[in-house]
Amino acid sequence: MPKAPPKLSAKKTAPIVPRHDAGVFTPFDHQPRTRLVFGADSAGRAGELARETGMKTVLLVTDAGVVAAGHAERVRRCLEAARVKVILFDKVRENPTTRDVAECLRAARAGAIDGIIGLGGGSSLDTAKGCNFLLTNGGRMRDYWGVGKAGKAMLPWIAIPTTAGTGSECQSFALIADERTHQKMACGDPKAAARVAILDPVLTLSQPPHVAACAGIDALSHALETAVTTRRNPLSLAYSRESFRLCWSNLPRVLIRAGDLEARAGMLLGAALAGLAIENSMLGAAHAAANPLTAHFNIAHGEAVGLMLPHVLRFNGRDAEAAGLYASLDWGLDNAPDASLSTKADRLAENLESLLLLAGMPRSLSQCGVKPSAIPALASEAVKQWTAAFNPRPITEPDFAKLFEAALGNTG
Ligand SMILES: [Zn+2]
Repeated sequence: MPKAPPKLSAKKTAPIVPRHDAGVFTPFDHQPRTRLVFGADSAGRAGELARETGMKTVLLVTDAGVVAAGHAERVRRCLEAARVKVILFDKVRENPTTRDVAECLRAARAGAIDGIIGLGGGSSLDTAKGCNFLLTNGGRMRDYWGVGKAGKAMLPWIAIPTTAGTGSECQSFALIADERTHQKMACGDPKAAARVAILDPVLTLSQPPHVAACAGIDALSHALETAVTTRRNPLSLAYSRESFRLCWSNLPRVLIRAGDLEARAGMLLGAALAGLAIENSMLGAAHAAANPLTAHFNIAHGEAVGLMLPHVLRFNGRDAEAAGLYASLDWGLDNAPDASLSTKADRLAENLESLLLLAGMPRSLSQCGVKPSAIPALASEAVKQWTAAFNPRPITEPDFAKLFEAALGNTG
């Protein structure tokens, strides 16, 4: 008779519990929701893809710049050729507010739409998402602030980014500011994710140089912040690393030669992968510090993040684990093989500062009209931002005040 297997003690049979902070073993549950269609001239497939998704009448959400560049007309023609009726809403503004979403909603209600096409930068895509929330679920944007608050199904929608920046096309979050307070509300729900994202680098060639620079710095900041947050997991880290590699190597090329389609393609893919990383990993202190700068000093999002990110890298670089993750990114570490991890984080910050200079970004808060007297209020708002909670090194209000002070005096 075979011997019964020995009874193992509870200690021996206990599963290996992943350490939350280990990164490599952090559990995740990732459901890819957005079909990605990537390639030069892929926007020409908009009609076919809309039809495949079951759309017959769509709201095309875009802005005046995209109309002027001819992209809206081109996409409209593709849709109509596939017998999809188009209602145009072309009044999207940068950093959309609840008022912008309400205006878009009025346009959506003017026809019996069964789908939405968001065409443009992050603002167009977020306005399209915000409109979808209210059209299908009613109420106000505030009701969806947070995650998973939409009870009913939403309309299918297709995202077609014309900038390589926010990665909104790969996220289920709409960032909408309160019209009165300018507080940014991140409204997320799996149902809000685009059914299809068309990544056509040819569309990004029309970005004005400063828009491309701001968007590119934003995408790079997404890669760097998602790589280290407390929410990161093995999958998000893979997205962050590849996104960083693509943005770090291609952004300088785009800045130097705007017509470099291969570099534009790298940036568009890098921004989309960073969007996927955010979906799984959230963001950190640079975004928490940037939001009040945009709200009160009207500093463009990419500029605000660029102003704060080098200081956040130095701050996080004092945390061994975050410093190790920064060091693991592909940014040319061969230059500093023997340096300590925190020194490597400092060097990454210096390299980033050189890139910010090349991108023509403002290099000090004072240059943007921020006075030292504003710092206490900025720090108080920054620490309350959602993303501050995911920063790898715990960060307090006095810490934020120090980061703002450091950013105030950059002379770069
Ligand atoms: Zn951002």
